[in-house]
Amino acid sequence: MTITTDSVVTIHYTLKDDSGVVIDSSASGEPLAYLHGRGNIVPGLERELTGRGVGDKVSVRIPPAEGYGEYDKNLVQSVPRRSLRGIKDVRQGMHLHAQTEQGPRTVIVTRLAGDMVTLDGNHPLAGKHLNFDVQVEEVRQATEEELSHGHVHGPDGHHHHE
Ligand code: ZN
Repeated sequence: MTITTDSVVTIHYTLKDDSGVVIDSSASGEPLAYLHGRGNIVPGLERELTGRGVGDKVSVRIPPAEGYGEYDKNLVQSVPRRSLRGIKDVRQGMHLHAQTEQGPRTVIVTRLAGDMVTLDGNHPLAGKHLNFDVQVEEVRQATEEELSHGHVHGPDGHHHHE
C-alpha cells in the first residue's frame, strides 16, 4: 500500500546538514514509526513521502520553511543572570524552560557575557536546510485508537503517553 493520510509509516532515516554532518539517524537503532498526515514529522518530509511505498528510498533537501521554520531573531533575548532564579551554574548550550513574551518555551543558552545571558528560543534546526535520506520499511493502516490519539502505538498495543 502507498502512504496516505492516516497511514502508520515506519522509516529508517539519516538527517544531515548542508556540510554533510549527521544530525540525527535511526541507523544504529529502531526505525521511526509515525502517523502520516498529522504533522508528526516536518511538513516537507511528510509531503515527499506521500504516495511512496515499502522499499522506496527518498533523498530530499528541505528548506527551513518546510522544516523547523526560519530563524527568528525576535526569539533571542539577553537577560541579567540574576533573573534566572533557581538555576545554578548557567552554561552555554544549556536548555531552559523559560517564560517569554511568546509564552512558555524551551530556550538554549547561547552566550554568557559579564552578567548577561543570551537565550535563544529558536528550534536548534531553525533556519537550516534538512538533507534527509529515508527508506520506507513498513506501511499499514492506523488503528481506531491510534487515530483518536493522533499518534502511533507500539506493536504490542502498549500505550505510552509523554
Ligand atoms: Zn495514545
